[in-house]
Amino acid sequence: MSISDFEAAISQAIDRDELVLHYQPIVSVRTGVLEGFEALVRWDRPGVGLLPPAEFIPVAEKSGLICEIGVWALNNATEQLAAWNRAVGARDLTVAVNVSGRHLNASRIRDDVATALRRSGIDPGRLVLEITETTLVGGVLAMKNLRELRHMGVALSLDDFGAGYNTVEQLTRLPVDIVKIDKDYLDVSTATTRELFRSMVDAVHALGLPVVAEGVEHPDQLELLKAVGVESAQGFAVGLPMAPAELEAHWHASMCVPELPRRGDDGEP
Ligand code: C2E
Ligand code: MG
Ligand code: MG
Ligand code: MG
Repeated sequence: MSISDFEAAISQAIDRDELVLHYQPIVSVRTGVLEGFEALVRWDRPGVGLLPPAEFIPVAEKSGLICEIGVWALNNATEQLAAWNRAVGARDLTVAVNVSGRHLNASRIRDDVATALRRSGIDPGRLVLEITETTLVGGVLAMKNLRELRHMGVALSLDDFGAGYNTVEQLTRLPVDIVKIDKDYLDVSTATTRELFRSMVDAVHALGLPVVAEGVEHPDQLELLKAVGVESAQGFAVGLPMAPAELEAHWHASMCVPELPRRGDDGEP
């Protein structure tokens, strides 16, 4: 299949409702209480199966289809959170949506977010937009958009901090509310890597921002998070990305905290 055929297939996938969002839990390190979810897109491709984002997001980025996917994800994730609010009173939970640089550098992003908030009726503070530093490079409009989005009351989270070319100095210039430290830095194997992780956490805290650690796969990583005062954790050891129905099956109707399937419980990675 040529690139343009693949682009056409992605475009059709949006129209035919073949994209799905899986939700991965984010919990408080101190209490273990569920704080929210990150929405992660998959393509349920007929005759092929569930494709991870790495297999179609890069093509969508090049073709500009990523903005359509972004609009779809914003609407879908906010509607899902509103549905959970109605069903189980999940009013404190947040949902984080990944926003591409291309979308962030387009003026439509503000209307797209405002529309999703209006349609779903969720509190703007319950929506977190995950951005990466690479997506912001050279983007004057992106910076303006970020400030306006924040003014609307949505939270901004810097994703994959430490991956690629980003520094604490750059962080001071970004209007963000949360920093997600990249999973490559959550390395507990030596005293040096543990100290490096601690110094990154300290630097983020020095700016007054909370930290989410991604890629938490083992209990000893959780111990490090506790020891260095990381606020929130996300990863296979905490909970897998799950389809809404799967997540609801683990949900305690009486409270907002689902009983999360942990890595190894059901043979999934
Ligand atoms: P990300 O935003 O950094 O998302 C975290 C990725 O790490 C997810 O991969 C998640 O499944 C994976 N992960 C979670 N826990 C663990 C763990 O304990 N260990 C390891 N090794 N990995 C873990 P996924 O779902 O394949 O998504 C990959 C990337 O695709 C995301 O990275 C994000 O950049 C992008 N993406 C996903 N959904 C969307 C979307 O709706 N829009 C856009 N623009 N990009 C998206
Ligand atoms: Mg993310
Ligand atoms: Mg990330
Ligand atoms: Mg990542």
